[in-house]
Amino acid sequence: MKTILPGQTIGIIGGGQLGRMMGLAAKEAGFRIAVLDPTADSPCGQIADIKIIAAYDDEAALQELAKVSDVITYEFENIDYEGLKRLGTIAYVPQGAELVRITQNRMNEKAEIRSSGAPIANYITAYSFEELSEKIGQVGFPCIVKTAFGGYDGKGQVKLDSIEELEEAKSLFEHSTCIAEAFVPFVKEISVIIQRGRNGQSYCLPIAENIHKDHILHESIVPARVDQEIAEKAVEAAEKIANHLDLVGTLAVEMFVLQDGNIVINELAPRPHNSGHYSIEACNVSQFHQHIRAVCGWPLRKPKLWAPSIMVNVLGEHVEPLVKEMHRYPEWSVHLYGKAEAKEKRKMGHVTIMTENLEKTLTEIEASNIWFNK
Ligand code: AMP
Repeated sequence: MKTILPGQTIGIIGGGQLGRMMGLAAKEAGFRIAVLDPTADSPCGQIADIKIIAAYDDEAALQELAKVSDVITYEFENIDYEGLKRLGTIAYVPQGAELVRITQNRMNEKAEIRSSGAPIANYITAYSFEELSEKIGQVGFPCIVKTAFGGYDGKGQVKLDSIEELEEAKSLFEHSTCIAEAFVPFVKEISVIIQRGRNGQSYCLPIAENIHKDHILHESIVPARVDQEIAEKAVEAAEKIANHLDLVGTLAVEMFVLQDGNIVINELAPRPHNSGHYSIEACNVSQFHQHIRAVCGWPLRKPKLWAPSIMVNVLGEHVEPLVKEMHRYPEWSVHLYGKAEAKEKRKMGHVTIMTENLEKTLTEIEASNIWFNK
């Protein structure tokens, strides 16, 4: 098994905040970073040793990345699958391309989760609106129709409460084939980030409880406020999926918790995840460090949580008030990703707060007047 050592170069496909935080973790240990991203001043580009500015499927750029990198990883799943597969023939890509193929398409993703044995909501696949109309009875109402490709943060989804609303899902088929799944009456959303080495050794980070606003992650509370039994089920499900997929690297498993204590898997992300950012300060190994360890063939470290924590996302509209108010909160770890334009709803940074009193800190966050839209 190949071990990548400090001084060698880690190539990252994608120059967003996840690549930046991965790169910062790697640079602490003395690795060099090369990044492929279409923008000149990407968050990861700002901290990289080598920048390749080109589209993710640009053949010459991929070859250039292969030439300068000792190992290649990626920071998001919507990269070109064929390109990644080809890259694997000319460069060292320990994660492979299969996980990207699966998680790029909800149809594949659902099928794999189901065959791993982890619990999943009842669903059907539809290649056309006509097929959806024929099969929707198998799922019933309420249900959610989701595009198979390209959806994120609630985009490409329509909730249907009755058959009369079916037409509302028609336009989704302009973009992609779809799945329809039963609406899950969850009481909480949680996520488990599991990281696995090439030797099959794996660890989960402490479970995060996720609060969304307008379909975008607002806060992650760690440890998730769920019973031990639920936490155990969640970890068991993540392990089942990771083993089934023969994971190398990082997999974020988003789950719903039901009133009766059961869990249902919602979706997967084959990379470090927004709900794991707290681990930078709050754990003895961050999701980014652990990811680097996994792809470089180093033994993984058993995660330990130093203190309960809350991570709050900083969107475009929060930057100005945060910068104005942050001097009042010396305990807050403020991260900003170096994005030039603070567009509304765009993820610009996050704040992590370690606390012995989660409820008190949640109140403090709400009272700070930084995150409006209460
Ligand atoms: P997704 O893009 O699949 O993560 O969905 C975005 C959000 O929509 C989730 O975080 C949930 O809050 C909600 N959602 C998605 N699928 C379902 C479902 N089957 N039942 C209830 N809520 C859902």
